[in-house]
Amino acid sequence: MNSWVIAGTALGYLILLALIAWAAEKSRKRGRSVINNGYVYALSMAVYCTAWTYYGSVGRAATNGMEFLTIYLGPTIMCAIFWPVLRKIIRICRTQGINSMADFISTRYGKNFSLAVIVTICCVLGVIPYIALQLKAITTSFDLLSGNSGAGAGIWRNSNFYGIILLTIFILFFGTRSVDASERHEGLVAAIAFESIIKLLAFLAAGLFICYGIFGGVTDIFRQAAEREDLQKLFVLEAPSAYSLWFSMLVLSMLAIIFLPRQFQVNVVENLNENHLRKASWLFPLYLFVINLFVLPIALGGSLLQPDNIANADLFVLSLPLSQGQELLSLFIFVGGFSAATGMIIVETIALTTMISNNLALPALISTRSLQGRTDRSVQSIVLWVRRGSILLVVALAVLYDEAVAQQYTLVSTGLVSFAAVAQLAPAVLGGLYWKAASKNGALAGLIMGFSAWIFTLLLPSMAGAGLISNEFVEQGYGGINWLKPTALFGLSSLDPVSHSLFWSLLLNCFCYVAVSLNSKKGTQETYQAEIFVDIFRSADISQQRTAWKDTASLPALRLLLQNFVGQERADRLLRNYAQRHQIELDTNQADPRLVSFTEKLLSGVIGSASAHIMVSSVAKAEELSMEEIINMLRESQQNIELNRELRRKSSELTKATEQLSALNRQLMAMDELKDEFLYTVTHEIRTPLTSIRALTELVHDHPTMPEEQREQFLSAVIRECERLSHLITQVLNLERFESGKHPIHYSDTTALALLQSATDSIAPLAEAKSLQIKISAEEQPIRCDKDLILQVLYNLLSNAVRYTPEGGRITVLAKVHDNSSEGTRDKISRPVTEQQIRFEVRDTGKGIPPESLELVFDKFYQAPNQTLTKPEGSGLGLAISKKIIELHGGQIHAENLTNGGACFIFVIPALNPVENE
Ligand code: ADP
Repeated sequence: MNSWVIAGTALGYLILLALIAWAAEKSRKRGRSVINNGYVYALSMAVYCTAWTYYGSVGRAATNGMEFLTIYLGPTIMCAIFWPVLRKIIRICRTQGINSMADFISTRYGKNFSLAVIVTICCVLGVIPYIALQLKAITTSFDLLSGNSGAGAGIWRNSNFYGIILLTIFILFFGTRSVDASERHEGLVAAIAFESIIKLLAFLAAGLFICYGIFGGVTDIFRQAAEREDLQKLFVLEAPSAYSLWFSMLVLSMLAIIFLPRQFQVNVVENLNENHLRKASWLFPLYLFVINLFVLPIALGGSLLQPDNIANADLFVLSLPLSQGQELLSLFIFVGGFSAATGMIIVETIALTTMISNNLALPALISTRSLQGRTDRSVQSIVLWVRRGSILLVVALAVLYDEAVAQQYTLVSTGLVSFAAVAQLAPAVLGGLYWKAASKNGALAGLIMGFSAWIFTLLLPSMAGAGLISNEFVEQGYGGINWLKPTALFGLSSLDPVSHSLFWSLLLNCFCYVAVSLNSKKGTQETYQAEIFVDIFRSADISQQRTAWKDTASLPALRLLLQNFVGQERADRLLRNYAQRHQIELDTNQADPRLVSFTEKLLSGVIGSASAHIMVSSVAKAEELSMEEIINMLRESQQNIELNRELRRKSSELTKATEQLSALNRQLMAMDELKDEFLYTVTHEIRTPLTSIRALTELVHDHPTMPEEQREQFLSAVIRECERLSHLITQVLNLERFESGKHPIHYSDTTALALLQSATDSIAPLAEAKSLQIKISAEEQPIRCDKDLILQVLYNLLSNAVRYTPEGGRITVLAKVHDNSSEGTRDKISRPVTEQQIRFEVRDTGKGIPPESLELVFDKFYQAPNQTLTKPEGSGLGLAISKKIIELHGGQIHAENLTNGGACFIFVIPALNPVENE
């Protein structure tokens, strides 16, 4: 295809982008933001998908199979778990006027200058290759499309060069619209979102054509590929090295989605509303899913159609449709790749530019003091020119790197080098968000170690691989030392280069960060910033109301400073609004401390927090708060927190009280039901004997001629029933008296043996009638209790035993000092008599009690099932009454089954109940 047609298309596309950006900015000026929604936000996040995705994924899939997916799985996982962290970062940046990763880290650690510089240098080093990669993608796709087989001839000699110039102009124009870098680039974001749509559509078009235009569908491709032995390996993971690579690629991409400068730019700096995160957290993964749908089919299709061309698999997306003569479609696909590349270049360049100008160039200018005293408006244009210069620098560096190194590498490997670089920011940022003890020195040590490790294990070897430097150290180790081999540090040779580098760099990074943090003292600013960052959601108000500046500055000087950087009109408006909101006098000569920190915040948007700090201190001439004062301030906020906690505690107590009340109410209702049930059972129990009494007396009454013998038999049955009836009524009344506590208790002194003897004496006739043997075992143990009541209990238990033990059985009653401690003997001696307890047991050789009834037998009217007696003679109240009596004595009763099958009733009461209980 004619080069000029392609170049013209690219140019037209860039103009379209400019129009979109322009329209978006215009509509914002009219108060209607087109980018203020979650959809555009998610689309702008998709700047993550660069030419690497567009071309490189297919290349990776053609050689390594499913592995390419890790780069998209990482961000997907991250979206699910990470958005609260991102929200915190956004909130901090918003309240602190932060506009780059370098600024973020430096602000967190006390607005430290060295940190800002180090992070900037590292980001530039790490990301320039990545930008170069995009340029390479544009060049190669252009060459392929134009049939210009002089691939590798470089951009200097073809029309792409002009494309890059145009792109740079675009960035210059839309990237430096305002001097305030924390002001959002609405136009740019709109353009990036548009690019995300175009690259998605173009890639899907390519996928659809290759699958359905060239092959008979996706299944057809997979079927054909499955028949080819060399392609089968693409479907499986090759153990074990593939596992570590999968893992480290996953980690890398998880970190990249947060720490790549361009992601920070769109995720944080350009974010308009924290709530957009919610939508993006599912929309963005969806985007990644859709754009990856056809990667594997295209890779396989390409491998099938052009088996000799695997080395150029990166370009299958374009080369396959082209080989079918689809010129128009190919042009569209080229535009898709072009937009993937340009989107990345634009955002990445702006992110790097902010860092370079704010952290390297402007501080250098400020430190020469040439800017500090300036009062004219030229300062603003100086800032703008510094930023423009930085843009040119970034693009130029990328072009150079592309020429020198990137042309030798496939797309993905260069990208991974960048990912590993930005991963080094993770400890300092994440630690800074949640760990107050993290210190500036710790962050410095961690970053320096991490980046050095990255340079030695990944960057230098990759440069050696490109032939830029001698390859000797890769094979023999640095300085010829074997264990300093860059890809097998300390003999760790089992990992692939990326995992190896990631392992060592992050390990050293984290170790130094934590170790140094724990062993270093922190300055005032550091402590203050740590507090604000970690507690941002709680302490938003302290950072607004309070300031680390104690003394006031001269208001006119402060005003002038601000005017220099943001323009007179805007400076006045901002100050006025702020003063109004916080009811601060503006007519004075002395500026309120809050105004000082407000100005610093505004300035850090323009020139970065470290420089802003220097600038403000130059006019405020203020001493910073002492450590003690800071601590007081923090304590005050701590007190607020405690007050809140107290309130929460009170309200939870209230709810607990309400819960208790309703529980009580439920209990009352349950008791009411129980009472009804009791009444019902009592009347029922009484009716049974009454019915038979009535039937018997009627018989006698209606048959006056009944034989004497029979009459007597009937009448004695009537008497028996009457006795039963009165027994029942006495029992019920007793129980009621015990339950209501009306029954008086008369304590008297006796012994355990005496109690057992009189109980067995009264049961003896019944036992003899069933020829049961009764055995007693007790000591003359003194005991004070209500003799009659305890006898009643013993009698109840014994008569039950007699009743439920078959003829010829044996009943054992025993009483002894209760031993509930593990060191029984010692305890028996040392424990005073008043605390002693006596344990009574009544054992029989009957059928025992069904296990599920063991506790129930003490309930009123409960009669255990499966008794041998067809009609239980008892009332079912005996045990309930016994339990009440024992409880009145302050003791407990329970039933067990013996190993020989019989039942055993045990009760324990205090040996000496206090006399005054009477
Ligand atoms: P009852 O007057 O019916 O015996 P109790 O309250 O004294 O009423 O006993 C309740 C139930 O406990 C009895 O109906 C019986 O099922 C069971 N029970 C009590 N003592 C024994 C025992 N020694 N052996 C087996 N079951 C027993």
